[in-house]
Amino acid sequence: MEEKLPEDLASLSELEEKSLLEVLTGRFTHDLIYTYVGDILVAINPFKYLSIYEKEVSEQYKCHEKKSLPPHIFAVADRAYQSMMGRLATGPRNQCIVISGESGAGKTESTKLLLKHIMELCKANSQLEQQILQVNPLLEAFGNAQTVMNDNSSRFGKYIQLRFQNSSVKGAKINEYLLEKSRVVHQDEGEQNFHIFYFMLAGISTEDKEIYGLLDPTHYRYLNGRFGKEDVVQAWRLKFAEVFNAMDMVGFEEQTFTSRSQEKVDMMTILAGILSLGNIAFETTDSDALKVSEESRGWLKATAGQFGVQEEDLLKSLTCTTSVTRGECIQRLHNQQQAEDARDSIAKVAYGRVFGWIVSKINELLAPKVDCDVELSEIGILDIFGFENFAVNRFEQLCINLANEQLQYFFNHHIFLMEQKEYKEEGITWETITYKDNKPILDLFLTKPIGILSLLDEQSAFPQATDRDFVDKLNSKFKTAPSFEVVRSHTPVFTIVHYAGKVQYNASGFLEKNRDTIPANIRELFINSVTPLLSVLFAATISRTGTLMPRKAKLKVADDNFNSTRKQSVGAQFKHSLAVLMEKMFAAGPHFVRCIKPNRSKQPDQLDSKLIMDQLRYNGLMETIRIRRDGFSWRPKFREFAERYNIVLLKPDLPLDKNSCMSILNSTGLSGWKCGSSRLFFKYWHQEQLSRLLERLGRA
Ligand code: ATP
Ligand code: MG
Repeated sequence: MEEKLPEDLASLSELEEKSLLEVLTGRFTHDLIYTYVGDILVAINPFKYLSIYEKEVSEQYKCHEKKSLPPHIFAVADRAYQSMMGRLATGPRNQCIVISGESGAGKTESTKLLLKHIMELCKANSQLEQQILQVNPLLEAFGNAQTVMNDNSSRFGKYIQLRFQNSSVKGAKINEYLLEKSRVVHQDEGEQNFHIFYFMLAGISTEDKEIYGLLDPTHYRYLNGRFGKEDVVQAWRLKFAEVFNAMDMVGFEEQTFTSRSQEKVDMMTILAGILSLGNIAFETTDSDALKVSEESRGWLKATAGQFGVQEEDLLKSLTCTTSVTRGECIQRLHNQQQAEDARDSIAKVAYGRVFGWIVSKINELLAPKVDCDVELSEIGILDIFGFENFAVNRFEQLCINLANEQLQYFFNHHIFLMEQKEYKEEGITWETITYKDNKPILDLFLTKPIGILSLLDEQSAFPQATDRDFVDKLNSKFKTAPSFEVVRSHTPVFTIVHYAGKVQYNASGFLEKNRDTIPANIRELFINSVTPLLSVLFAATISRTGTLMPRKAKLKVADDNFNSTRKQSVGAQFKHSLAVLMEKMFAAGPHFVRCIKPNRSKQPDQLDSKLIMDQLRYNGLMETIRIRRDGFSWRPKFREFAERYNIVLLKPDLPLDKNSCMSILNSTGLSGWKCGSSRLFFKYWHQEQLSRLLERLGRA
C-alpha cells in the first residue's frame, strides 16, 4: 500500500491527472483523508467521524518535524507554531494559514482543528484557551446557516489572529468579512435563515417566549413559515444552551438567578423584533396612501415594542422617506414595493449590527492584556467562503469570488512567481513551469479608476443611474478584455472568466447593494430606541480594536472592517479590507490547506471523480505538484543559513558567507540542494532533515 499510496504527491515520479486521482481516491477509501504536496496539505472531507483528532494524536504531532508521521492537519498547526517560535527554518515570525475550498469542503472544520491543536501546543491558561475555543460556536450560531451546499455553511469570511508573547497565547482578534445579510429576509428553496433564529425559538422557555414576544415559529415569514421536526428541534435546543454557555465563557455579561443580563435580553429582543418586522405587510388605501394591512397591525405593535421605539415612528420610517433640503423637511411617501424594501433593509441592518456587535465584543474580551511595548507575534487563520457559481449570481457572489481570486493570486505568488523569479535571478538552471496567472482578472476588478469596483462606485454616486447603465459601462470598457464577456440580454448581466470557471452575474440590485445606505430616519429611529443595545449600535461606531465608541469620538482612520467618518460603498470597504488582509498575509510565513469536497450529496465514503478532478484542476494542483517535486521551496540567504546552522561545525563565530555555508553543508552529507549567487536552494524536505540533525547535536 505504501508504494502505491504515497503520503506526498510531490514524490510521484509519474505526473498524470489519472495517477494523481488514483492516489487520492485510494487513500480516501482507506480513510486517509490527508495528503501532502510538499509542504501543502490536501484534505478531503470525510463527512463522517474519524478517530484521528484525539488528544493522544495531538500529543504525537507536537514538534512533528522530528518524527515521521502521516499527513495531518495538526502537522500544519504544528509547523506554523514552530515557525513562529523560530524553531524551524529562517523566515518571518508571523504566520498565516490559508484554507481554501468550495462550500462544504471542510474549511471551517479545519479551522477549528487548527485552533484546537495550537491551543494544545501553547499551553494557554485554561480560561483564555476556553475563551478562544468558544469563539467559533458563537460565530457559527450567528453567521452560519443551512444551504443547499452545506448544512452549516459560513455566510461570512473570517481571519482569526492568535497573538503570542514568546510561546504563550495572550489573546485573539477576529476580522469578519461580508456577512450575507440578505439571508435574514430571504432564503432560496432548500435553505434556511441564520442558525440563531432556530436555536432561539427551539431553546427558549415558555416564560421567556412571552417576555420577548415570540410566537410559534411557523408564523414567521422570514423563516418561510417552516420549522424543524422534533429531533431537529431537540438538537437546536441543545445548541441554544451551547450558545449561551459560549457567551458566558467568552465573557459576555452573565445572567444570575436574580438578574438577567441586560445585553442578552436586548440581543434576544432585537432578534425577536426582526422576526415580527418581517410579518408586516402593506396595502394601498382608496386615497392611494399606503397603510399597514389590517392583519399585520399586531405585528407593527409587537415590533415597535421589541425595538423599543414608538409605533408611529416605526410606521413613518416604513412608509416614507424624510429628507432635509435647505432647512426644510421633505417627506416622500413610499409605494408598496418601497415600503417592503424599507422593512427588509431595517431587518438586514439590525441583524448586521448585532453580528458586528458580537464580533467587536469578542475582540474586546480577547484583546491581549500585555504592556503596549511588548512585541507580539501572530498566527492568522483565514477561513473565507469558497468560490460560488449559482444559477443566479449577485453582488454577494461577485465579492466572494473576488476574494477567492485574490487568494489564488496569493497562492500563485508564493508557489510559482517568487520561486521561479529567484531561480532566474540567482542563475539556477530551471525549466519554467507555467501556471494560470490570474493577475489580469484581479486587475479587471481592482484597478483605479477603471476597474469593475471603481466603475460601480462611479455609477452608485449618481442617484439616477441604473444597474443597466452600470453593465453598459462595463461592456464598453471591457469588451476586449480576455476575462470579460459581454452578454446580450434584456436583463443586466455580464460574465467573468474566473480562475475557477465562468460566472454570469446578474447586476440587478448591484448599485443599491453597493450603496447600502441606511436612511437617516431609520438611523434616528434606532438611536432613540429605549433598548440600550439597539441605541448604542446605531449611535456608535466600531473602533480599530473592535470596541464600541460613542459617535462623537469620530475616528480619523478607517478600520479594517468598518469605516466610520464617511460612508464608503460596500465595494470600496471590501476592497480596503482585502488590501489590509493581503498586506498582513504577504508579510507572514504562509501555510496552505486545500480542502476538497468528495461528493455533492454530503455522504461519507462516496467519491465523485469528476467533481474532485475539477477542484484539483482549478486549484492548479498538477502544477503545484510539479514545482514541489522539481523545485526548491526553501531558499535562505547565505547569512540566514550560516547563522542558524553554524552549530553543525561547532563554530559559532564562523563568518556568515557562502564559504561557511558550503563547509556546513558538506559536513552534513545532504544532497540535492543548489547554490545561487546570494542564497541556497533546498527541497522542502531538507528542512526536516536539518532540524533532525540539530536535534541530534543538541542531544549529543
Ligand atoms: P462553507 O464554505 O459553506 O462554510 P466549509 O468549507 O467551511 O463550507 P465545513 O462547514 O467545514 O465546510 O464542512 C462541512 C461539513 O463537512 C461539516 O459540517 C462536517 O459535517 C463535515 N466535515 C468537514 N470536515 C470534516 C472532518 N475533518 N471530519 C468529519 N467531518 C467533517
Ligand atoms: Mg465554513
